Amino acid sequence: MTEYEPVIGMEVHAELLTESKMFCGCPTTFGAAPNTQVCPICLGLPGTLPVPNRRAVEFVVRAALALNCEISPRSIFYRKNYYYPDLPKAYQISQYGDDPIGRNGYIEIEVDGRVKRIGIRRCHLEEDTGKLFHVSPHTSEIDYNRSGMPLMEIVSEPDISSAEEARAYLEQLRAILTYLGVCDGKMEQGSLRCEPNVSVRPKGSTALGTKTELKNLNSFRAVARGIEYEIARQTALLREGGVVVQETWRWDEARQVTAPMRSKEAEQEYRYFPDPDLTPMVFDPAWIEEQRAQLPELPRQKQLRFQKEYGLPAYDAQVLTETRALAEYFEAAAKKHSDAKAVSNWVMGELLGRLNAASLDITESKISPEALAGLLALIDKGTISGKIAKEVFDEMFATGKAAEEIVRAKGLTQITDTEAIATTLDEIIAANPKEWERLKAGQEQLVKFFVGQVMRVTKGRANPQVVNDLLKERLQ
Ligand SMILES: [Zn+2]
Repeated sequence: MTEYEPVIGMEVHAELLTESKMFCGCPTTFGAAPNTQVCPICLGLPGTLPVPNRRAVEFVVRAALALNCEISPRSIFYRKNYYYPDLPKAYQISQYGDDPIGRNGYIEIEVDGRVKRIGIRRCHLEEDTGKLFHVSPHTSEIDYNRSGMPLMEIVSEPDISSAEEARAYLEQLRAILTYLGVCDGKMEQGSLRCEPNVSVRPKGSTALGTKTELKNLNSFRAVARGIEYEIARQTALLREGGVVVQETWRWDEARQVTAPMRSKEAEQEYRYFPDPDLTPMVFDPAWIEEQRAQLPELPRQKQLRFQKEYGLPAYDAQVLTETRALAEYFEAAAKKHSDAKAVSNWVMGELLGRLNAASLDITESKISPEALAGLLALIDKGTISGKIAKEVFDEMFATGKAAEEIVRAKGLTQITDTEAIATTLDEIIAANPKEWERLKAGQEQLVKFFVGQVMRVTKGRANPQVVNDLLKERLQ
C-alpha cells in the first residue's frame, strides 16, 4: 500500500491592537453594538479617501522583524476586487506580489525534542471585512464595526508535516505576536484566525498534491483535529483511487468532521492593481533598525534562556514562556527562591490548574510571585509539609494572604518535636496490637498504615520523616 505524507502551509490573520482602524479614525473596541464604530470611509461611501494608520504599519514591521523577515524597501497597497455584502467598497485594500512589508522569514518550533524551521513566505498588511450573521435561511445581518480594522496576514511555506507541528507553529506565532503586543491572540474572539492548506503526497515524492483549505478553526485543538481529519480523509480518498479537489472545507466543531464549503476562486479573478489613493510605503533602513532595537526578548529566546539559566526541562520552559506575563511571573518567583524547578512545578501544576479552573489569567492571580516564594521557603525550612502547603496554597489563592500569616493563624506548623510524635505513635501502636504484630512479623506494607494513622491524628502536621524514623526505631 502506498504511504502518504502530509504537506501543510498556514495562513494566519491577526487583528492588530491599534486604537483606530486601518484607513480611518473609527475605534476598534471589541464587542461594541453593531454598526456603532463606522464612518463614510469604512462604509465605503463615494468621495472618501483612506489615510494609512502609521501604528499599524509599525506593528507589521516589528512582527516581520520578529519573524526573521527581510523588510521590502518599498511596499505597496493593492486593491483586491470582489463583490460580497461584507465588503462595502467591493474591493479590499491588501498587499500583493513581491513587495509585502515582510518576506522570507522563519519561525523555529520544537516538537518532541526536534527543532525545525518553518519558513515565512510573506507578512503583509490589509483591512478586515465586515461580519455577516445569518439569522434565518432568508435573512442575514451585517455588522460593519470590523470593516476596515487593520489585519496582518502571515503566510508560511508548506514546511509543516503534521498536526502537532501545525499546532506548535501556531502557538509559537501567537506567543510572538502577543509578546510584541501587536495582537491579543484570542482565537475564540476571532482576533487570530488560522487557515491551514492541507495536501498529501506519496512518501518520497517531491511534487505537491492538490490542497484543500480549512476554515472555522477557533482553537488550537480545533486546528490539530481539523488537520488530522483532513489528512485521513485525503489519504483514504487517494487510496481508493479518488482525486482531491481544490476547495475550501469547514471544520464542524460539533460533529468533529470537515465539510466542503465552496470551490476556491482562481486568483486572477481578483483583478489586483495598486491602489491609486495610497502612496507606496518607503522604509528608511535606519528606521527599520530602530524598530528592531525595540523588539523584546522573544518566546523562543526566553525558552532557551530559561533552560540554560534555571536548568529547566524544555517542556517546562515552553509552557512557562507561552505568555510574557507568565514568563515574568515565573522569573520573579525564581529570583526569590533558589530551587527554580520547585517554582516551575508549583506554577505549572498548582497555580495554572487553579487559574484555568477559575478562567483567570496569570495577571489576575491573587498570589504574587513573592508570596509563592514565601510558601516554598516555609516548606524548605520544614515549617510545613508539602501536603499542608497545598492547603495553605488554596487559601492564598482565594484570599491573597501571605503563607506565613495563614500558617500562624491556623496553627498549621509542622510537628517536628520527636517526643510529641513518639507519644502519638505509641498510642496508635497500643490501639492496633494485631497490625503491630503483623508488621513485626515482616508485613512491611503496614508501615504505610501506621504512618497514615499518625498523619490522621496530627491532621497532616507530623513530619513524615520523623514518623518513619521512630517507627524503624520501635521495630528494632
Ligand atoms: Zn471608519
